[in-house]
Amino acid sequence: MTPTWQRATWALIGVSLLAGCAAAASGPAPDVASPPVAIALHGGAGTITRDQLTDVQEAAIRGKLTEALETGHDVLTAGGTSLDAVQAAIVVLEQSPLFNAGVGAVYTWDAGHELDASIMDGATRNAGAVAGVRLIKSPVIAARAVMDRSEHVMLSGAGAEAFAQSQGLAMVPNSHFDTPGRRASLDKVKAQLLEDEQARLSLAPEHRFGTVGAVALDAAGNLAAATSTGGMTAKRWGRIGDSPVIGAGTWADNRSCAVSATGHGEYFIRYHVAADICARVRYQGQTVAAAGQAVLFDELLPAGGTGGVIILGPDGDIAMPFNTEGMYRAAIDITGRKTVRIYRDQAPGPSDPQSP
Ligand code: ASP
Repeated sequence: MTPTWQRATWALIGVSLLAGCAAAASGPAPDVASPPVAIALHGGAGTITRDQLTDVQEAAIRGKLTEALETGHDVLTAGGTSLDAVQAAIVVLEQSPLFNAGVGAVYTWDAGHELDASIMDGATRNAGAVAGVRLIKSPVIAARAVMDRSEHVMLSGAGAEAFAQSQGLAMVPNSHFDTPGRRASLDKVKAQLLEDEQARLSLAPEHRFGTVGAVALDAAGNLAAATSTGGMTAKRWGRIGDSPVIGAGTWADNRSCAVSATGHGEYFIRYHVAADICARVRYQGQTVAAAGQAVLFDELLPAGGTGGVIILGPDGDIAMPFNTEGMYRAAIDITGRKTVRIYRDQAPGPSDPQSP
């Protein structure tokens, strides 16, 4: 848990290899050791079971998760920051209709889209977020701009859009985010809700799928986290979930961990899930896996809160626990090992960065 000495060790290994390389300049160049980097991402949690996905759908989801993962990892291996890595990974997922973020966002009750996103820098605890935005092409890029280029942490609605426009960010009509599948879900959910007043109060997990999030560790030892979502199908009255709420859906602190959450946002806000996980790591010395497990299964689940998180520690430890049937999730750990998973029954293997 002391990444500084680890990084010093990696630097020394790199220097010795370089020296060895210079001494034997005629031989093949050895791989020069570089500090470890890691990335994990999720594409939403819920009642995701094998019988709900065709082979074609499953392959498409796996393919897009892999593309986003490799996009973020490439940023890290090229020496980029964890902030740039999580942003780059999420932009790939926002542009895909397969996920509930950007294109493919769920519909509000009024058949539009209101998007939420946030990003946090574990080195400085700077953060940025946008909530309820309708016209910004990439909510995560807007969240980053709020962090980097304003004195605020969270901007909402028309004000956030005016800010984004003033910063030269890409703007689109709200229909840019339309997809027929999400529209069909809205019609189905609305019919259910109109028929069954009680359903409105419970907001069944089927009402949302596919929020996206990423956490990363860069070669400088800095953590970052980001999350982007369309929220929950048929949401009304300007409802904002946990995804743009720093500490609930997103958290990063080099002293403990980086977290991005997905699930029933009202519970994640009330239980301050992302920050609680990292507080347990920081103050109680828990592993990221134990802290994630405790918050999801001992705190959230008994209260009725369902969902999952991806967690990354400063030493590269990854945990991806969820208390639902499945969670789209993927990671490349510090050894370069890649994992792309969907279902709960994909049991962890040796040193598998999956939840216990
Ligand atoms: N957490 C998101 C929200 O409540 C939805 C999700 O993650 O599926 O807005």
